[in-house]
Amino acid sequence: MNTSRTDQNFGSLLAAVRRLASEVAAPHSDNVDKEARFPVETLAALRQAGVLSAAVPRDLGGAGCSMVELGQLCAALAQSCGSSAMVLAMHYSQLACIARHGEQTEFFRGYLRDLVTHQYLLASMTSEVGTFGDTRSSICAVERADGRFTLKKDATTGSYCQHADAVLVTCRRDKDAASGDQVLVMVRREDCTLKQTTSWDTLGMRGTCSPGFKLESGGAQEQIVPGAFADSSAQTMVPYSHILWASLWWGVAADAVGRAANFVRGQARQKPGTTPPTATRLAEVSLQLQAMKQNWMSAAQAFDAVATGAAGREELMSIGWALQLNNLKIGCSEAAPQIVHGALQIVGILGYKNDSPFSLGRHYRDVLSASLMISNDRIAAKSASMLLVFKDSP
Ligand SMILES: Cc1cc2nc3c(=O)[nH]c(=O)nc-3n(C[C@H](O)[C@H](O)[C@H](O)COP(=O)(O)OP(=O)(O)OC[C@H]3O[C@@H](n4cnc5c(N)ncnc54)[C@H](O)[C@@H]3O)c2cc1C
Repeated sequence: MNTSRTDQNFGSLLAAVRRLASEVAAPHSDNVDKEARFPVETLAALRQAGVLSAAVPRDLGGAGCSMVELGQLCAALAQSCGSSAMVLAMHYSQLACIARHGEQTEFFRGYLRDLVTHQYLLASMTSEVGTFGDTRSSICAVERADGRFTLKKDATTGSYCQHADAVLVTCRRDKDAASGDQVLVMVRREDCTLKQTTSWDTLGMRGTCSPGFKLESGGAQEQIVPGAFADSSAQTMVPYSHILWASLWWGVAADAVGRAANFVRGQARQKPGTTPPTATRLAEVSLQLQAMKQNWMSAAQAFDAVATGAAGREELMSIGWALQLNNLKIGCSEAAPQIVHGALQIVGILGYKNDSPFSLGRHYRDVLSASLMISNDRIAAKSASMLLVFKDSP
């Protein structure tokens, strides 16, 4: 295993992800979906290629990829396996929280160096029985004594927690804190017990393996990410989650459109010199796909422009940014199923069948999770209240 990845650049990482997507993720994706099992082969290949440390800053041995670059990695993988890409996107969101908010502590700098060496996988636990999808409020609280902490959480949903090396858990700062006064705690897998409380037999994103869990954990206090979660949420977790999720939903939709395009070309070959009627529908979905890509790409570029520096971080706390990210999430989560639906109308019964090279069932089911993964209604309600006081144009 490499101990440093500074030799890597974005180009080599993207080439590696494209290769492993077609050689490893694609051949296993149907079985991962059917069995609702974790994509172990793809994660092993991602580790082997050093992709899990792409978001670690270069001075700590990682590739220091920007948001635009991480989005392209997630999009490339999603074209072969949506669940694998969702795991990668969630991992990068957690890694970014440590890299951007733990950067001042020797402990987290050391942890990131170790992550580069060992290619640790990070999971997230924000949901909780009682607060459900409201990431900005917690019932559970971290308790501190003698340099150690203990933390218990009853989470409704915890993707790939059983397979992760650490889980980043939101909780109240202490037992007297208000529900919104939260911190983020990095819990090592070996320092916690996870009791599965619900099943994960879902329509889509089945390979993310995301049942409910009761977590009981302990560790050193230095594992508590410095600062308030209010800051790391607005400056890092929300932008990384919403932009990278959008990029991977786009990747799933792009593969569906790719299958539809192959179908239309096959029809055209059967009647040389004519344009099949399905080609007009293909032109329509390709327009929607392009618009969706522009949406997440421009958000990623805008984030990269403000990502560093105190002024940029302050800007990310603004209502304008919150609205922009909410709109991105709602827009892309609604666009992806519409695009896959359009592709299905082109392909017809061969897309509806589960055993054809043009099958679109997995794509369709995977992107249906997008509007639920932080409910669009919940996000729209937050935007509605912000728009009451937001005066500038977004
Ligand atoms: C594939 C996938 C992976 C996930 N992975 C993780 C993970 O790793 N870690 C994690 O913590 N969570 C994870 N989640 C959970 C996710 O973050 C949300 O917590 C969860 O999807 C919300 O569940 P819910 O719909 O029951 O809850 P809620 O958000 O509480 O919504 C319940 C219902 O109430 C409605 N509603 C809620 N608020 C409002 C409002 N203000 N106005 C109008 N209607 C409203 C919603 O539309 C919905 O119908 C994952 C979810 C998915 C789909």
